[in-house]
Amino acid sequence: MKFVDEATIRVEAGDGGNGVVSFRREKYIPKGGPDGGDGGDGGNVFLVADTNLNTLVDYKFTKFYQAGRGQNGMSADCTGAKGEDIYLKVPVGTRVTDKETGEVLGDLRTPNAILRVAKGGFHGFGNTHFKSSTNRAPRQKTNGTPGERRILELELLLVADVGLLGLPNAGKSTFIRSVSAARPKVADYPFTTLVPNLGVVKTGDGESFVIADVPGLIEGAAQGAGLGHRFLRHLERCRVLLHLVDALPVDGSDPVANAQVIEKELKEYAHDLYEKPRWLVLNKVDLLEGGEEEAQALVERVAAALETKPERTFLISALQKQHTKELTYALQQLVDEVKAAEKDEATNQADNFVWTEGEQNVRDPVNGAKVGAEDELDDFFDDDDLGVEIVYQK
Ligand code: GDP
Ligand code: MG
Repeated sequence: MKFVDEATIRVEAGDGGNGVVSFRREKYIPKGGPDGGDGGDGGNVFLVADTNLNTLVDYKFTKFYQAGRGQNGMSADCTGAKGEDIYLKVPVGTRVTDKETGEVLGDLRTPNAILRVAKGGFHGFGNTHFKSSTNRAPRQKTNGTPGERRILELELLLVADVGLLGLPNAGKSTFIRSVSAARPKVADYPFTTLVPNLGVVKTGDGESFVIADVPGLIEGAAQGAGLGHRFLRHLERCRVLLHLVDALPVDGSDPVANAQVIEKELKEYAHDLYEKPRWLVLNKVDLLEGGEEEAQALVERVAAALETKPERTFLISALQKQHTKELTYALQQLVDEVKAAEKDEATNQADNFVWTEGEQNVRDPVNGAKVGAEDELDDFFDDDDLGVEIVYQK
C-alpha cells in the first residue's frame, strides 16, 4: 500500500533557430561574400530534484512548460542566441515517465539531481557555412530542428508528515478539507469504506506538507482488525500527530474523557505513535458560548487530563477556518525543521548529478523567482493548470 502523488505535465524544448541567407552589403563592395549566421540551439527542459519540495502540488496549477526557441541567424555572420533552458523543481524521489511511450526517463532520487526531459532542437546553418572555393555565393541554409515535446507523468511516493487523530465526528475530515490545497482523490480501497483521507497543505511558495487522517486508529485498530494496523503504518513516519478534540460533542459526551479515549487507544495499539510529538487541537470552538476564554479553559483541562502533556495546544474552528492558518504555519515550520535536519544528513552523502551542464541558476517553476544560484542555469517559464491527484494504491 502506498500513497502516490501524481501530476501530468507537458514540456516542450525550444526549436533550433534557422540559419539565414545573407550577403555582405557595403558601400563600394558590390558583391560581398555570404554572411548569413547560424541559428541558436533550442532551449532544453530539465527537472531538478529539490529537497525543499515534498509534493507535486505546484504542478496542479501549472501544466505546460516551454523552453526558449533558438534565435534565427542574422546577417553580418551573427549567430542567433541559444534558446533559454528551463529548470522545473520537483521533490526528491520523483519518478518521470514519458506518458506516450511508457518509458521511464528517470528517478530523481538524489538531492539536486538534474534530468533532461526534453532536448532542444539543433541550430540551422547560415549560408556562410556553405561557402567553398567553387561556390562563393551559396544560397543554401538549413533550418533548425524541432525541440522534443513530451507529456510527462510525474509520480511521487507520498509520506504523511502530519497525522490526525480524533474520535469520529471530531472534525478531522472537515479540517483536512479546509486547509488542503489539493483535494486528494482516494482510489478504491477494496476492503472497506474506511479510506485514508489525505490532504496536501500548501502554506507558501513551494512549501507544502502532507496531512493524513487515517481512520484505522479508532474505527479499526481497537478491534484488532488487521486493516487498522495497516493504516496506522502510514503514520509511522509522521513528524507530529494532531489530536483533534470536539469542544462540544452533540452526544453530550465530555471532551476530556473523549481525549483520554484516544490516548488510551494509542498507548495500547500503536505505541510507536504514542511516543511521537502530539499537539492538542480543540476544534469547533465556534460552538462555545463562552468564546475564546471558555475554549482556553477547556483545552487546559483536556491537556491536564492527558498522560502525555501535549507539546502545543491550539483552539480552532475547522468549519469556519478560525486559527487554522496559524496551525498550518506552525506545522509547516515543524516539518521544515525536521526536514532540514534530515537534509544535513543527506547532503553529506549525495550530490551526484544525473546530468548537468554549465553554470546555472534554478528558478521556481511557478513564479520565476530565483531559487539557488549554485548549480544550474537560467530561466523558467510558466503557464496554466492541471491536476495533481493523490491515488491510494494497494
Ligand atoms: P470526522 O469524523 O472527525 O472526520 O468529523 P467531520 O469532519 O466529518 O465532522 C463532523 C461534524 O462536525 C460535521 O457535521 C462537521 O460539519 C462538524 N464540524 C467540523 N468542524 C467543525 C467546526 O469547527 N465547527 C462546527 N460548528 N462544526 C464542525
Ligand atoms: Mg471523517
